[in-house]
Amino acid sequence: MSHTITVAQGDGIGPEITEAVLRILDAAQCGLTYDRIDVGEKVYLQGNSSGIPAEAWDTLRRNPVFLKGPITTPQGSGYKSLNVTIRKTLGLYANVRPCRSFHPYVKTMHPNMDVVVVRENEEDLYAGIEHRQTTDVYQCLKVLSIPGTEKIIRYAFEYAHRNGRKKVTCLVKDNIMKVTDGMFADMFRRVGKEYPGLQQEVQIIDIGTARVATQPDRYDVIVTLNLYGDIISDVTAELTGSVGMAGSANIGDRISMFEAIHGSAPDISGMNIANPSAMLNAAGMMLVHLGMPEKAELIQNAWLCTLEDGIHPADIYREGVSKVKAGTKEFADAVIERLGKLPKVLEPVHAKGGEMPAYVYERPVVKRQLCGIDLFVCDPDSTPNELAEKLLKASHGMLKLKLITNRGVKVWPDGFPETFCTDHWRCRFVGPEVEVDMDKATYQAVGTKQVIQLMQLLEKAHIEVVKTENLYLFDGVRGFSLGQGE
Ligand code: NAD
Repeated sequence: MSHTITVAQGDGIGPEITEAVLRILDAAQCGLTYDRIDVGEKVYLQGNSSGIPAEAWDTLRRNPVFLKGPITTPQGSGYKSLNVTIRKTLGLYANVRPCRSFHPYVKTMHPNMDVVVVRENEEDLYAGIEHRQTTDVYQCLKVLSIPGTEKIIRYAFEYAHRNGRKKVTCLVKDNIMKVTDGMFADMFRRVGKEYPGLQQEVQIIDIGTARVATQPDRYDVIVTLNLYGDIISDVTAELTGSVGMAGSANIGDRISMFEAIHGSAPDISGMNIANPSAMLNAAGMMLVHLGMPEKAELIQNAWLCTLEDGIHPADIYREGVSKVKAGTKEFADAVIERLGKLPKVLEPVHAKGGEMPAYVYERPVVKRQLCGIDLFVCDPDSTPNELAEKLLKASHGMLKLKLITNRGVKVWPDGFPETFCTDHWRCRFVGPEVEVDMDKATYQAVGTKQVIQLMQLLEKAHIEVVKTENLYLFDGVRGFSLGQGE
């Protein structure tokens, strides 16, 4: 079966490595035709701040499998990341990055590592919702959704199951972010029950990263949130010995993008010394995605044979191990010559194909009840007690002032004099009959009218509210975190 894919050569070393990879795909008779688009530096410099021209979106919709060379983002503000634009606009929710060692051919401290990082690609702090609220305080919203979380976790388990992997590790910071990361970890445990054949563990991201960096062979498939995944996948790629080796896939429901993890390497552009391996490995993932796992195996095993024969591009060339320092073109020729051969020392690639099951989200029926409000107040002059006094006086008991925090730490009632306070206060108002012990709290329903009246009373008293956040119960369960020390 023939497929037309969308191809962008990219910038810097992009054209060299892309052409090398396409030559290998053609030699392996993958039956691909290429619809080419221009993205990147040239497009940015023509005044398109996203780096992708309008007509390229139509090409991507027509040919939804996209092999993309690395691009150069011009220096200066105003240029938006092309990758982030493509990922978010086209709903490429899963970023998959396999990182494997090629010992003894590529120098690494971890000869046995073979880790796949599955990173959520659309949500988290990358939602890009940031504000400066007061003179002192800036914020960036961390947005996680149930469907976004369920989708990435199902993808990770399914990937592990199909590819004969043994274990899936979920990395979160749910000891601190109990509501958001807690939801991610709970979802992992819930979906994990459907995969009893896979070992499963949840680890805290900080110790998890330290262990990934020192004992990567303890890990198999890792699933994590966007920001943690961004960091951990660079750690794992670096551990294998060279950024020139790892490819990545950005998977969406309809459109998917495959690329090297490295950038456009302008320092070596046009010199025929770039290593095309990362883009070749990305192309291997693309072939599996297209339902041609046997072609992915053919190419990747020929590539492993090339490494075993000591034919190495400059970035991995080592005296005593390597035999030939191969240019980009010559390295591609060597891979083509070895098509059909299997590696003898390195574990051969066994690629598994097949479409991932479509994800269908059924929104649960949940009773949502307003039970209070967090008012974020700008006040550069008051102490916590002075602010509490002002709020109590102004609110006339409309709702009950439950606590005041500053940068999340409780400062009223019973705050500590040592706590440093900025000009930005979170003032929690709840229904009048809430019990004091929050663990046993019974929250009273609060009406929107009461909240509006409270805001009007504070306005009259010249108390400046810079943001509000409603407090809800979902089927009676608290949908908000407690203040530190609450
Ligand atoms: P880079 O990955 O391009 O280069 C880092 C170092 O690794 C350089 O010394 C480079 O020569 C080397 N290197 C990278 N790929 C190589 C390969 N295939 N073979 C041999 N050596 C290789 O990172 P950078 O220098 O920070 O960024 C350069 C440009 O790439 C920037 O404009 C950046 O925004 C862009 N970038 C693009 C992507 C992408 O398109 N996905 C990713 C990262 C960076």
